[in-house]
Amino acid sequence: MNTAIIALGSNLDNPIAQIQNALAKLRQQPEIADLRVSSLYRTAPVGYADQPDFINAVAVLRTPLHALALLHLLQNVENEFGRVRSFQNAPRTLDLDVIDFNHEKWDTPELTLPHPRAHLRGFVMLPLAEIAPDWVLGEYGTAAEIATLLGDEGMVRLP
Ligand code: ADP
Ligand code: MG
Repeated sequence: MNTAIIALGSNLDNPIAQIQNALAKLRQQPEIADLRVSSLYRTAPVGYADQPDFINAVAVLRTPLHALALLHLLQNVENEFGRVRSFQNAPRTLDLDVIDFNHEKWDTPELTLPHPRAHLRGFVMLPLAEIAPDWVLGEYGTAAEIATLLGDEGMVRLP
């Protein structure tokens, strides 16, 4: 079995429900086991600011799938949730990214691991630090260390 860290984000069409429904969908997958999820966080948009706030969460899971097959499963779920790809950092009903996978290093256009921007994003590192503080992300240190460096960026943890 492999261990994967994934990030979930949504800022359209009732984002909290989008994230909760996506998590329910992932729990139904026979190839996904032991899904553990962070709190949900409300965060300001990155890159393109003129759009609604995001709801973000991070999950740890176990899977017999290899990394690309997991990415494809996540992309199928995104498509099922009506995601339309317009431009980078555009508003989206559901974004599912692979943050890390067994600490594997990938450097292809289709899959880069660890996710190249995860260590810069409080909305990934704070939720990850909540569920897996000792997880080592690439050369950047543990999730707890990176999250402390980044700070909370005005994120609000939802009850
Ligand atoms: P973003 O998440 O950066 O806003 P997309 O979700 O549209 O953008 O992803 C764009 C492309 O990024 C996808 O076609 C996917 O193949 C690629 N990609 C590369 N590495 C990863 C990764 N670690 N997780 C998710 N997608 C990735
Ligand atoms: Mg993505």
